Amino acid sequence: MEDNNNSSNFIRNIVGGDLKSGRYKSVVTRFPPEPNGYLHIGHAKSIVLNFGLANEFNGRTNLRFDDTNPSKENSEYVESIKKDVRWLGYDWDELHFASSYFDQMYEYAVFLIKKGKAYVCDLTADEIRKYRGTLTKPGKESPYRNRTVEENLELFEKMKSGEFKDGEKVLRAKIDMLSPNINMRDPVLYRIVHASHHNTGDEWCIYPMYDFAHPLEDAIEGVTHSICTLEFEDHRPLYEWVIRECETENKPRQIEFARLNMTNTVMSKRKLKKLVDENLVDGWDDPRMPTISGLRRRGFTPGSIRRFCREIGVAKANSVVDSRMLDYFLRDELEKKALRTMAVLNPLKVVITNYPEGKSENFEIENNPDDPSAGVREVPFSRELYIEREDFMENPPKKYYRLFPGNEVRLKGAYFIKCSEVKKDEKGDVIELHCTYDPRSRGGNSPDGRKVRGTIHWVNASTAISAEVRLYEPLILDDSEEENDSFLDKVNPDSLKIVSGFLEPGMKNVKPGEKFQFFRHGYFNVDPKCTEKGKLVFNRIVPLKSSFKIK
Ligand code: ATP
Ligand code: MG
Repeated sequence: MEDNNNSSNFIRNIVGGDLKSGRYKSVVTRFPPEPNGYLHIGHAKSIVLNFGLANEFNGRTNLRFDDTNPSKENSEYVESIKKDVRWLGYDWDELHFASSYFDQMYEYAVFLIKKGKAYVCDLTADEIRKYRGTLTKPGKESPYRNRTVEENLELFEKMKSGEFKDGEKVLRAKIDMLSPNINMRDPVLYRIVHASHHNTGDEWCIYPMYDFAHPLEDAIEGVTHSICTLEFEDHRPLYEWVIRECETENKPRQIEFARLNMTNTVMSKRKLKKLVDENLVDGWDDPRMPTISGLRRRGFTPGSIRRFCREIGVAKANSVVDSRMLDYFLRDELEKKALRTMAVLNPLKVVITNYPEGKSENFEIENNPDDPSAGVREVPFSRELYIEREDFMENPPKKYYRLFPGNEVRLKGAYFIKCSEVKKDEKGDVIELHCTYDPRSRGGNSPDGRKVRGTIHWVNASTAISAEVRLYEPLILDDSEEENDSFLDKVNPDSLKIVSGFLEPGMKNVKPGEKFQFFRHGYFNVDPKCTEKGKLVFNRIVPLKSSFKIK
């Protein structure tokens, strides 16, 4: 791929070192989403990192659905995740479901019991929590800790065959209730959940806990570097314990990095699901969502997302990234690629009084001033036009160079016009402007060296096509994602504004997903969900400029 992960980061140093030292012969990474929601931009960071490392070191990357929790997972999510990973530009080597390892995991649990390293415990969840102690208080051993191997084997078998209710018993690792690391105080390995699983149906009523399942999944697949987010740093000793005590053939290692947090958005699937369930957005792919499907519908490109993920870097300390940084990479890409067009989003009628009635002509306007190979397009012009309402002021302040009574401006690529008369309705609102044009300024060039300071865009009234244009503001009114549940109060009530605009007639046949620069308005995507025959819908991806700069 054009953009391998070349930026230096500590993980690639570790991986490089492991190959050099011979700890691993080749690199195998995995991207392990839990199919309980759609992927978001934070997952993209993990995807770019995992696939990028494997690409760089000629290794492999698996896509593995971490579906060990029966209740929240479903296959709609599985399909959306596959689609999003592919859309981002990556192809996995092997596709796996953690649930297909349930037999092996069960065998490993039995192996631990036989080694005296796991036991069945009858304490309730509450009791287990109390016995566990705190950071400052040591834990206390469960009264069931010293059951014999035979008794444990028999009870675990009964757990599996459904003889107990949810929560009645668990299987726990026998490690150390005095460990300073709470994760090592006899963590639960298996719990009873009588629920149907999207893959295994009702075959199982015991399910492995993440900390037991994940290292085994990695080991079974021959993953070498198991990259996860920082919250799991304190779980690493347990990860290593499972690998060591289960005596797995492969010995994966866990490496943690800081998760992506971004301003003005929320990034956990749970919160995103809440926005969907409460109908605060139009589904997981709402263009305001930080989901991959939302970003795609909004108009972000895979390349801009990958570049963003690489440029923010991989660190060992949490931080919050300004969401405008993603906008920057989109602009940077589309500036070179997107065709330009004129669109009037808040129209005001202009009549050129000295332009002959019935006459029309075409102007050739460049499709991309930075790229002559993009060619030109024909743009029709006649006596009646639309301009942007904001481009006229009856009583302008100083330094207003656009249209006002008596002032001359350039219509982009067409003529100089001067405003001679302002028409109003009975309420006093401006409804139409009368202007005169200078025929000698054809193409927008000055006939005699006189200067006009303002250039405004326009659309020919009789041939204009109308379109619905959606303008977005941040979904969350906050500077940082905080770990609390009250984020619903911070949902921006004005995050979507829908306007009806006029476009050049050449835009009639655009296709879903095509991207354009609307002169002075920004970059727009043809909405793939709502555009249909006879109805064009555009999403503004980003405005043209931002105060935010990246070197
Ligand atoms: P969420 O809280 O959004 O549900 P998660 O970590 O529970 O996130 P998973 O589906 O388990 O979601 O994540 C799959 C992979 O993506 C994991 O390896 C996880 O570390 C990584 N990941 C998830 N969120 C982020 C993020 N914000 N930044 C970087 N990596 C992330
Ligand atoms: Mg999760």
